[in-house]
Amino acid sequence: MFNSLSDRLSNTFRNLKRRGTLSESDVNATVRDIRVALLEADVALPVVKQFTGRIRERALGAEVSEALNPAQQVVKIVNEELVGILGGATRRLNLAKNPPTVIMLAGLQGSGKTTLAGKLGYWLKEQGHAPLLVAADLQRPNAVTQLEVVGERAGVPVFAPERGNVFGHDAALETGEGTRSFGDPVDVAVDSVTHARDKGYDIVIIDTAGRLAVDVDLMRQAHDIRVETAAHEVLFVIDAMIGQAAVETAKAFADGVGITGTVLTKLDGDARGGAALSVATVTGEPILFASTGEQVKDFEIFHPDRMAGRILD
Ligand code: GDP
Repeated sequence: MFNSLSDRLSNTFRNLKRRGTLSESDVNATVRDIRVALLEADVALPVVKQFTGRIRERALGAEVSEALNPAQQVVKIVNEELVGILGGATRRLNLAKNPPTVIMLAGLQGSGKTTLAGKLGYWLKEQGHAPLLVAADLQRPNAVTQLEVVGERAGVPVFAPERGNVFGHDAALETGEGTRSFGDPVDVAVDSVTHARDKGYDIVIIDTAGRLAVDVDLMRQAHDIRVETAAHEVLFVIDAMIGQAAVETAKAFADGVGITGTVLTKLDGDARGGAALSVATVTGEPILFASTGEQVKDFEIFHPDRMAGRILD
């Protein structure tokens, strides 16, 4: 990811390095180059404007530094501003004082939620937690099975409606754990939290349904799951490859569901980087994790400073 953005910015800075001092027109030309580079990388226009506005203002106002030449100074400013739009400091998971912590995953179908549930579960287990995956995606016929496969691979148990009852609408069945209506994802999510508390799981990871496009009913369902489970984290999962569409989707989930952070997936692909660079600014919430492949270990904590470093490498 970021290959062409990175190349373009290096070219811009290379041109700048030839200058001993920076005139206003040098700064303007540089800012123009950065603007084009960001737009080509599919960064959302309002984010580009905000970003380049700050670079220009800071570059023109920069004090003459003994230690840095003008080009280095601009690179430093761009680096700091990149860290800023990527969310600033690394944000840790918000864990509940009284377990279980409820982490809900929301996003479009195919964004990588189910895969992420396994990765997150595996990662948390490695750190000594006892996570439980929850199949609250009852829209797609094989979603529950898919989560079970993922859970098995990650070595993390899965809480799911009993097979055969998943899509029944009259399905309020007596189980050892009380009456449960199997057709309703909100009920399943709420039950899973009780189950986790009873059985000593300290983190619940709820995989919710997604559709191919933003959908009012689904938003409401995700919103209800968040409210009814009093979720501590609502992680918006977004495929970094979706480019410009990222902004609208992110806004829709931030407004419709209420999110506390973002996870970028498919960073192993050749995405231009626009989603990564837009989503924290657009949602006002940081990026917590990055998914970098299909295997359970292809998962990283998202560090804005390292990502900025990668772009400016
Ligand atoms: P969901 O519909 O949001 O639950 O998405 P899935 O978890 O089913 O993922 C959709 C597809 O993307 C699957 O084929 C996954 O293997 C793949 N996938 C998920 N995360 C990543 C990732 O980080 N990198 C790559 N290359 N593929 C991924």
